[in-house]
Amino acid sequence: MTDRTLLILAGDGIGPEVMAEVRRIIGWFGENRGLSFDVSESLVGGAAYDAHGTPLTDETMAMAQEVDAVLLGAVGGPKYDTLDFSLKPERGLLRLRKEMDLYANLRPAQCFDALADFSSLKPDVVSGLDIMIIRELTSGVYFGEPRGIINEGNERVGINTQRYTESEIARVARSAFEMARRRNNAVCSMEKANVMESGVLWRDVVQEVHDAEYPDVELSHMYADAGAMQLTRWPKQFDVIVTDNLFGDLLSDLAAMLTGSLGMLPSASLGAPMANGRPKALYEPVHGSAPDIAGQGKANPIACILSFAMALRYSFDEGVEAARLEAAVENVLAQGIRTADLLQSEGASPATTTEMGDAILAALDSSL
Ligand code: NAD
Repeated sequence: MTDRTLLILAGDGIGPEVMAEVRRIIGWFGENRGLSFDVSESLVGGAAYDAHGTPLTDETMAMAQEVDAVLLGAVGGPKYDTLDFSLKPERGLLRLRKEMDLYANLRPAQCFDALADFSSLKPDVVSGLDIMIIRELTSGVYFGEPRGIINEGNERVGINTQRYTESEIARVARSAFEMARRRNNAVCSMEKANVMESGVLWRDVVQEVHDAEYPDVELSHMYADAGAMQLTRWPKQFDVIVTDNLFGDLLSDLAAMLTGSLGMLPSASLGAPMANGRPKALYEPVHGSAPDIAGQGKANPIACILSFAMALRYSFDEGVEAARLEAAVENVLAQGIRTADLLQSEGASPATTTEMGDAILAALDSSL
């Protein structure tokens, strides 16, 4: 028996292919580290639409609310492009995030030394880079009212509203300070307090939470545009960055690509603690369903595998085992094993999705 519960939603396109490798890794931890998981599976996205006419059934939603962690592959594909907005595969993912109230989106930007040449920045700027961007995920300008396109006089006006309550800012600030305590103890909060009242409130509340609850953590504030410049100039100055939904959307993509391929990038979305103390949580690679390579054995499974490493660390408090898995990935990359997305020259022969999984399992074996 185990008290660790997981729901796997492999989804569409390359989702099932990369998730197959994660299943093998989960099995490895059960067999070799005594870390067993009670794993259930269901459908999401286009796969759920094909089977049930909806991108997420109520039953799957209820399962997601019960487990310690949801592991999601990817959703979407050209086959579903013409569906009504409410039935599109992405609505399944949005419903999960919304109903689980996953307000803190964790996007690590970590550069494995073996891939430092892969970045668009100079190797010495990115090698050893390890930062964590925490993006507020459930509020801000993507959700604020009023919104819409209205007629005013003889032209149309597009409206979106940036809106944050104190409690929304405070809870994501706490996520950032807690994260910093597990890392290098520094948080940089980014907003546009120079031109936006919501930014003034953001800065005030982050400072108040800091002074009252986390005075031991180093806190700095930066305007988000300056933050974007600093991220490309010298990203290693940062440890944890906390920012709102809109700026986080941009800054996390920018920071992530400092490190190379989309096939390498994991993410976590966390909500409030459940009765057992574990946060509501959904882990997923940043990439989509990659229809251009689906079914060809070309997908890089590392982003999905590193998302499981995040689950080990943040849902199950197994930081040592998470580090073991991350070190296995680093070891494989250092051996020069690469899926096609990580190869710069045409001539080199790439590893398949399964071969990359095999290599990571072998590296885990040798870690014992
Ligand atoms: P994408 O991330 O699927 O692919 C972009 C490019 O990166 C493609 O060339 C793809 O082959 C490559 N790529 C992505 N992941 C890779 C991996 N693991 N290994 C090797 N190469 C990889 O983005 P897209 O093409 O803009 O979108 C495709 C579909 O995915 C769309 O339907 C989109 O809506 C959906 N999507 C879903 C999510 C999600 O599930 N969270 C995120 C983004 C896009």
